[in-house]
Amino acid sequence: MSSSILVADNDQQLSALVKSLLEGRGHNVMHFTEGKAALNTVSSNSIDLIIVGENLADIDGVGWIVKLRQVNRDTKVVFISSKWRDTDLYQQLTKGYGVSLVVHRPLKPLLFGAQIDGELGGRESQAEAEKQEAESLLALKARFASILPSRFSTIADAVLKAKTACDKRDALEEARRLSHNLKGTASSCGFDHLGETAAKLERDFNHMLDGTLPIEANTWANIDMLVDSLAKDAEHDYPEHFRGGRMFEGTPGEDDSSTAKVLLVEGESDEAIDYAPESLPARIVRSHTYEDAIEKATGTTLDATIIDMTSVSNELSLKLARDLRGLPGCETLPLAFILDETQSADRIATTHAGASLYLTKPLRQKEMQSAVEYLIALRGRPRILIIDDDEDFTRLIDAALGKEGMIVKALNDPSEALTVLQDYSPDLLLLDVMMPNTSGYEVCRRIRELSRWQDLPIIFLTAQSGLDTRLAAFDAGADDYLPKPVATVELLARVRVRLEKMRLLKERADRDILTGLLLRRAFMEQLTALHSESQRYNLIFSLCLMDVDHFKKVNDTYGHLAGDRVLSHFGQLLRRRFRVEDLRGRWGGEEFIMAFRHESKDTMKGALQRVLDELTTIPFKGDHDETFYVSFSAGLVSFPADETALERLLKRADERLYLAKEAGRCRIVSEESVRSKVENH
Ligand code: GH3
Ligand code: MG
Ligand code: MG
Repeated sequence: MSSSILVADNDQQLSALVKSLLEGRGHNVMHFTEGKAALNTVSSNSIDLIIVGENLADIDGVGWIVKLRQVNRDTKVVFISSKWRDTDLYQQLTKGYGVSLVVHRPLKPLLFGAQIDGELGGRESQAEAEKQEAESLLALKARFASILPSRFSTIADAVLKAKTACDKRDALEEARRLSHNLKGTASSCGFDHLGETAAKLERDFNHMLDGTLPIEANTWANIDMLVDSLAKDAEHDYPEHFRGGRMFEGTPGEDDSSTAKVLLVEGESDEAIDYAPESLPARIVRSHTYEDAIEKATGTTLDATIIDMTSVSNELSLKLARDLRGLPGCETLPLAFILDETQSADRIATTHAGASLYLTKPLRQKEMQSAVEYLIALRGRPRILIIDDDEDFTRLIDAALGKEGMIVKALNDPSEALTVLQDYSPDLLLLDVMMPNTSGYEVCRRIRELSRWQDLPIIFLTAQSGLDTRLAAFDAGADDYLPKPVATVELLARVRVRLEKMRLLKERADRDILTGLLLRRAFMEQLTALHSESQRYNLIFSLCLMDVDHFKKVNDTYGHLAGDRVLSHFGQLLRRRFRVEDLRGRWGGEEFIMAFRHESKDTMKGALQRVLDELTTIPFKGDHDETFYVSFSAGLVSFPADETALERLLKRADERLYLAKEAGRCRIVSEESVRSKVENH
């Protein structure tokens, strides 16, 4: 079947290659080097697929896609990249801008052709094939899982025998054989973590047999730890099967509460979205009515909500989104909407309600998975750095903490500690004591010398025990200390406590108590980061400065406390509207500031107008129970359309705010004036 493909790229060689490849497969190819012309063609022709390179004559590829998505949401886009492996940008493209495939150069012609056909070809059949594959893997997994407990006890017996037997060789060989077998089967059944642990066991037994690993207490302790973790690994690889703790000890209830939860609201229709639950990094809680969704959100801590707009009416979906974010503790709940291919979202309404993501039906497993990952990440997953020369150990920790939704980075060479700290910027550090060429104490001391890391929570993990070690740890500047082998439950508990403490401290330092928004300094830090990211990748954002009208009069007439209530309420309103990833700050007194990623001022003007409408209808009470109403004026600017330098951008917003005041207040001004615009023409 022949399709219409538009290629937008400035690289003649690449374009020629792509064109001949695709024409050779029977497709119609139009090629553009100018972004403007390409965009015009997209809006006036029916195009099945768009292929975009890194650079066009008048704009870069990413910037062009951003522009494209402002006028066209649905056409599939493939992006060809030469160098970048930047996961943030990748995520923005795939999730924010619906790029369905990113291909790296140099292109592999056969593969590229097949990939493009895959993108064009029947979604149905592809989904069907994926589903079948998932089903057969699932059956295999289930069968394998049921025989695992006996496998584990056989290995444990073999280890015990090897420890105590007079003829160690035979017993070790048996243990090695069992580990080897387990490794093979586990990996092929999709039990990756289990497979890895089995491989480590096999390797250790090998080394014990060839004499490179001493047969002594330490070695056995490590072996025991690996054997102990087999059950946990299996559970990690296939949680559904083991949930309820049927086969292994452990506390399923507690485990359950630590898993991320995503509320999926689907309306009255039957469960229309297919996904394999075990492949998702969160538990899906389904709901079919508005009331039930609110109830579920009240009863549990949710990490995100996905609302299916194809089965819940638009009105109700938006109301539900707003009401969910209005629940106590849910101000920062990330939201996504599911649309079908023909449906188009009212961008202003969904932006106002706070949609971080738009998904399109039919939803494939892969899309569901990455959407859930993206939404959960918006809640801000803690970043953990572990420095330990023992690779196996760091992997065990990685698995244990990763399962809890933390992002873990392992560093096995302590000499790189400071550089990695700088680049990775963790929220917490786990540090080994005994390492080649240096000690954890030494590393800890050097870290603490730098003012940036003086508050970083540091926990020592060490096989040494005794009071001396513990004192030395605290002396070096550690916050806590855990003996190896580490019990996962204890490690998790300590890590959580430290993270929570740190989070509270940071909140106190960064957030304004009255409004719950970022203080000016913290806001500027994040805005500066957003600005440089946008500059680097040619992305847009908009910025809005708001000031409450006649606020002095509010204070004078109704009292200072009533004034405080207004500020607090306005802050709450800003927190509950818009996407959780947008930036909100208290700029000073009765001035507020917000920055909206990837959004133009045109969309934002409409969404902000809704917030203004909302604010003006809220009745406030004065100190003597009088009722009054307030409004705000705002100046709105876009990067890079209005200004590119951050300072100038802020200045322009401030100037427009002043214009709004002059023009009579209670309005949002996003251009200098209609008159001067006319004059320019
Ligand atoms: P305009 O519409 O031109 O903005 O007039 P305005 O009265 O709002 O502006 P002005 O800047 O003259 O007054 C701002 C007032 O806000 C003065 C200050 O006392 C008051 N204010 C600043 N911070 C707070 C606060 O935290 N609580 C209360 N209650 N009032 C505050
Ligand atoms: Mg004011
Ligand atoms: Mg003011």
